[in-house]
Amino acid sequence: MEDKIRTLLKGYGLSITESRLGVLQFFYSNNGAMTHADIEKQAGNKMDRVTIYRTLQTFEEKGIIHSIPSADNMVRYALCKEQCTAGHHHDNHVHFLCNTCGKTSCLDHVLVPKVKLPKGFLPSESNMVVRGTCNLCRA
Ligand SMILES: [Zn+2]
Ligand SMILES: [Zn+2]
Ligand SMILES: [Zn+2]
Repeated sequence: MEDKIRTLLKGYGLSITESRLGVLQFFYSNNGAMTHADIEKQAGNKMDRVTIYRTLQTFEEKGIIHSIPSADNMVRYALCKEQCTAGHHHDNHVHFLCNTCGKTSCLDHVLVPKVKLPKGFLPSESNMVVRGTCNLCRA
């Protein structure tokens, strides 16, 4: 696990720090999106807020994680798939927020539908969050 994360960080040209290793480890062990607060809780007193904030920012810039906006104003983060690169995200998939367990999942194979915009509008990104009951909670 740790070796995989070290290789990944090196691949993105990032130096290896305790906090980067730690935060990435949380993402790999928790398969779902996480808020800043979730990470803070998992980190306990090993990392402070600012460190976590900076780490998330760096990861997002590098194309390692993407942010998921939500109606409750809690930004969540999830791991990107391989095709994301620094400054260029391709996470145009739908996100699913479960009302029962509260988990946000990346629906990697469900793409955000293209919306027809009025003349003169140029979109740069669009997001879609669907709420409901996830497959695990329905089982
Ligand atoms: Zn991405
Ligand atoms: Zn659920
Ligand atoms: Zn996603």
